[in-house]
Amino acid sequence: MELILEDDSTSAKSMKNCHKIMLDIFGNDVQLVEYWGPVQMCVFYLEYHYLPYDYKIIMECERGFIVIEVQNKAGDVFWPLMLFPKANYFHYADVEKDVRQLVELTHQAIKENLIIFEPVGTTKYSETCLHCFDIKEVHNFISPELYEETIEYIKELIEKENFIFVEGNCNIGEHKKDGYWIDDIIYHVIKCPKCGWEFTCIVNTYKGGGSFTRER
Ligand SMILES: [Zn+2]
Repeated sequence: MELILEDDSTSAKSMKNCHKIMLDIFGNDVQLVEYWGPVQMCVFYLEYHYLPYDYKIIMECERGFIVIEVQNKAGDVFWPLMLFPKANYFHYADVEKDVRQLVELTHQAIKENLIIFEPVGTTKYSETCLHCFDIKEVHNFISPELYEETIEYIKELIEKENFIFVEGNCNIGEHKKDGYWIDDIIYHVIKCPKCGWEFTCIVNTYKGGGSFTRER
């Protein structure tokens, strides 16, 4: 499959460059099988088939940061960070050496037969999850408005970023009925779809206060 991008935006250039680096390093061992984007602020997806071992190699860019993942037939995953501590930083899609590092380390892991796979969702080797590292926490709801804004934000995380609703004492956004709070304490727990990290939003509607924070 050819990568054909009509637009000439910075994001499109980054995407083209990522594809080029992939082909430079892997050569004929990979074939582009699927792609989409760029959309929003540098969000795109490139998926390759690695022919010698029937692996899937995915390059994903989210908000300007790039990640690479290799998937085996069972759907287990590999990231360069599992083997190479030097990959433990945020890689920018528009920084040539960042993208090269990730692709080269992936290539090295496969070629030198170092590659290991872990079940999806494991966070054992990953210090930072690009999907949730910049979640905006609120340490104190100083006003009901701030709580309402946070609930809107959580709704967006669920609807647009695929965060998973874990539990709560009402549905998101249904904390008031006929103008009254449904309970003294209202809580919701959501989790990151990529790494499983949980975030709790709790408010005390009786005394005031509460927060939306990452579970530690
Ligand atoms: Zn996460």
